[in-house]
Amino acid sequence: AAEEGFDVEDVEGAIEEAGHGPLPVLAVIGRPNVGKSTLVNRIIGRREAVVEDRPGVTRDRVTYEAEWSGRRFKLVDTGGWEQDVLGIDASVAAQAEYAIEAADAVVFVVDATVGATDTDEAVVRLLRKAGKPVVLCANKVDGPSGEADATALWALGLGEPHPVSALHGRGTGDMLDAVLEALPEAPEQTFGTAIGGPRRIALIGRPNVGKSSLLNKVANEDRVVVNEMAGTTRDPVDELIELGGVVWKFVDTAGIRKRVHLQQGADYYASLRTAAAVEKAEVAVILIDASESISVQDQRIVTMAVEAGRAIVMAYNKWDTLDEERRYYLEREIETELAQVAWAPRVNVSAATGRHMEKLVPAIETALAGWETRVPTGRLNAFLGEIVASHPHPVRGGKQPRILFGTQAGTKPPRFVFFASGFIEAGYRRFLERRLREEFGFEGTPIHISVRVRE
Ligand code: GDP
Ligand code: GDP
Repeated sequence: AAEEGFDVEDVEGAIEEAGHGPLPVLAVIGRPNVGKSTLVNRIIGRREAVVEDRPGVTRDRVTYEAEWSGRRFKLVDTGGWEQDVLGIDASVAAQAEYAIEAADAVVFVVDATVGATDTDEAVVRLLRKAGKPVVLCANKVDGPSGEADATALWALGLGEPHPVSALHGRGTGDMLDAVLEALPEAPEQTFGTAIGGPRRIALIGRPNVGKSSLLNKVANEDRVVVNEMAGTTRDPVDELIELGGVVWKFVDTAGIRKRVHLQQGADYYASLRTAAAVEKAEVAVILIDASESISVQDQRIVTMAVEAGRAIVMAYNKWDTLDEERRYYLEREIETELAQVAWAPRVNVSAATGRHMEKLVPAIETALAGWETRVPTGRLNAFLGEIVASHPHPVRGGKQPRILFGTQAGTKPPRFVFFASGFIEAGYRRFLERRLREEFGFEGTPIHISVRVRE
């Protein structure tokens, strides 16, 4: 590494950064106008732009990567909640519910200048019941004179109120120190089979694609529903279902079974639930209604799962209703609209008739295998050497940037760090990804490639 112009420490740092596992999740909740968005922006700071350089980042995104004192975590922003539609109490309760399901710890923001309201007290009860670690943020304490307002919030019974001015930054450091103490080192739901638990599946898709029908089919028909397993504590929002002789955990099935009927705001709600399920899962089974045109909403759900770095299986449902013409157009739509997951295993199913249900498990296993693939460094560099020789990067400004070496920094999903002598263009990065897939498989998994350029 040294002779290529990279310092050993840079290389090690880059590998560690690229190879991080799943991050713990912190949710910021509270009534409207208490300062949640201001706080989220302060925590993310300028890093946000640096962290997310992947394309296709949509407005629906509700999670960001943040860092404090060298520790990274996911920050869930519930500030965009459609309070006008849901009503303040319902909206805040829904946030709390979301945070309880999805987060490893919660920052509960209260406006110290207003004090605790009935809504705040209701949230406290929800949070207490859930038992997730909570850091109480007494916001809008802009100066020493506000400290007394913060002290009054001891009455909420959530422990020490942290006086903060999200607007000016006062006290946010101390509060974040408390957050780090509350956050587990790695998410509680440790990935993989290392802890011996069942693999976690999120069944996602826009409303009416057939999620609850599919769930009923797999849960009730000829398979056994396992209610309790020795040695596993069962989260009531999840279900253990035996498929193909293996027990799987379908996460957030409560969200599928509990049909939310809201005129407006339902999309945003559904999108948060999907995000929560995806965060908790290892593999996402994305259900598409094959009888209808693939929609922007379908694409957003796919993007969410890809960005979260989950293994992915595409399931085209309602196959029983397709005629030849629809089948023809469906294939064209898949090619153009869902090209971003062309690598995902695909099953054509019918929750109504049970068609091809038996293909679901092999597809899930394929995707998980791709997600966990590790390429030895020697093989990877032999492969990179061949590519650089046979398909060099185009010359730019009289120089030819070269990939010098690379390594796989992590799995679940596979993450690569390549070290280069100059800026590597997006087109060449895509070419590298394509070749990596041709060479090593990675069926059913997004792969991340970050490129470090020699100074
Ligand atoms: P959210 O609805 O909870 O996301 O609240 P916002 O972050 O949008 O903030 C609501 C209002 O409170 C805005 O006008 C902010 O400028 C203001 N605000 C937020 N934090 C502070 C603070 O620490 N001190 C003061 N004085 N105002 C704040
Ligand atoms: P969810 O909102 O994604 O949970 O969708 P549901 O499971 O509630 O299904 C929506 C509608 O599609 C219901 O009327 C189902 O009976 C119907 N449906 C679901 N799967 C199939 C299928 O494979 N074939 C047909 N013909 N209808 C289906």
